[in-house]
Amino acid sequence: MSSAITRSVDRSVDVVVVGAGLAGLAAADQLVQAGHDVVIVEGRDRIGGRIHTTEVAGVPVDAGATWVGPHHTEVRDLASRLGVQLVPQFHTGKGLLSFNGRRRVESATAMAPWVVLDLTRILGALQKLADSLSVEAPWKHPDAEKLDSVSLGEWLTSKLALKGTRKFVNMISLVHWGAPVGDVSLFNVLRYIKTLGSLDIMLSVEGGDQQDRILGTAHGLVSRYAEAVDAPILLNSPVQRITTAAERVTVHTAEGMIEARYVIMTASPMHRAQIEFSPALPEQHYGLSRSWRLGSLSKAFVAYDRPFWRSEGLSAESVSDDDTVFLTFDVSPSPEGPGILMVFCDGRRFDGFEEPERRRRVLEQVVHLYGERARHPLDYTDFSWGNDSFAAGGPNPAVAPKAWTSFGRYLREPVGLVHWAGSETADAFSGTMNGALLSGQRAAREVTTRLATEAATSQ
Ligand SMILES: Cc1cc2nc3c(=O)[nH]c(=O)nc-3n(C[C@H](O)[C@H](O)[C@H](O)COP(=O)(O)OP(=O)(O)OC[C@H]3O[C@@H](n4cnc5c(N)ncnc54)[C@H](O)[C@@H]3O)c2cc1C
Repeated sequence: MSSAITRSVDRSVDVVVVGAGLAGLAAADQLVQAGHDVVIVEGRDRIGGRIHTTEVAGVPVDAGATWVGPHHTEVRDLASRLGVQLVPQFHTGKGLLSFNGRRRVESATAMAPWVVLDLTRILGALQKLADSLSVEAPWKHPDAEKLDSVSLGEWLTSKLALKGTRKFVNMISLVHWGAPVGDVSLFNVLRYIKTLGSLDIMLSVEGGDQQDRILGTAHGLVSRYAEAVDAPILLNSPVQRITTAAERVTVHTAEGMIEARYVIMTASPMHRAQIEFSPALPEQHYGLSRSWRLGSLSKAFVAYDRPFWRSEGLSAESVSDDDTVFLTFDVSPSPEGPGILMVFCDGRRFDGFEEPERRRRVLEQVVHLYGERARHPLDYTDFSWGNDSFAAGGPNPAVAPKAWTSFGRYLREPVGLVHWAGSETADAFSGTMNGALLSGQRAAREVTTRLATEAATSQ
């Protein structure tokens, strides 16, 4: 059983894992199972990283990661190992579209036919380009430089995408990279689509990445996992310095230092540069860190006594081009209530405001979408990832043009005794909980192999 302790002490272990998100827990789990002595060092006062719970109307809800797709077998296997249940995302009824302030119930005519055709054309072109990429070393693609030289927004312009298409693709960009289409490299978008399987999987509820939720929140899964992994977790211990000398690596926190044979770093690439490495990392790692800036996707939850939209035939799935609110979903625990709307907000139009103004903005759009009945909720809460005090941003990096071809190869190439994990380093399901688990397992395998080779040569 893991023993979360709040104060680190000077000690020596086989491997220090930095970060107690899913990648860190998976790495520690695999290393412990291979018989190694491991400590997990976490900068926050909690485990979970980008998986976090908040509460609305007494119901725990996911401030961070929520959904599990049918292909996310690592998360599913872990959930069944830990006795955690998945529940389907509510998806019955009609959705809403609100562009230019005009609210329309999803139907064959909700979007003009020429927009539907254009959107199909653009998404098809994106998928075709994504299919041509290799996920392992995408920078080797013959057109890598070209595809990485433009933003998704510039590519849409070059393809003469219609306004409605652009708005729809912008919503995809906000929810996946926490940034508008102009800020994200086309190449990053293509690789991301490829690692998830397809655009269809990425955007769908049934059969896609939004199919299921974890009952009792994703953080419940992480808490049980931390309990099951036999490695101590040092909370409130931001790693400040990592020094390597004489085949040993030392991890320094304000509370003390831990000596180890290897380190697995799971902090998002953007947060790597906040740690001082001695000797310094190859200089490209600092470029990598600056280019893999996390976007800012925030969430609000609005609770009502029951999910009243259901009796009106609405699923509560909506897409808007509103300044703040661009997507909603129904995450009510049961049809009897409370009815809970999960509201995705553009962090750039949200995080900078005080809570009353954030709430006002959310409610204004929710009333526009669901009518006057939505004006007086039972409860409201929100979480601004861009304002997180320790490791700000989410859900994924908004990797800018030219970054992949310049720095992509440094994402996970070990540097001396330091190995890299984290969702961003995964070749499959990058940017998801499943990718985080896979990345932790892969880094643990790398380290286990090195430890085994050392043991064999020392005999
Ligand atoms: C709003 C939001 C919605 C999302 N929705 C989904 C979804 O529906 N489905 C899905 O699959 N995924 C979703 N994701 C993405 C998913 O949460 C992440 O891909 C995954 O949790 C990343 O796990 P990780 O372990 O790689 O990184 P993290 O969870 O970021 O863990 C890294 C850890 O390292 C710690 N750390 C950083 N620097 C230091 C330091 N110097 N010293 C010590 N510790 C440090 C951090 O505090 C953090 O705990 C969402 C994310 C967000 C933010």
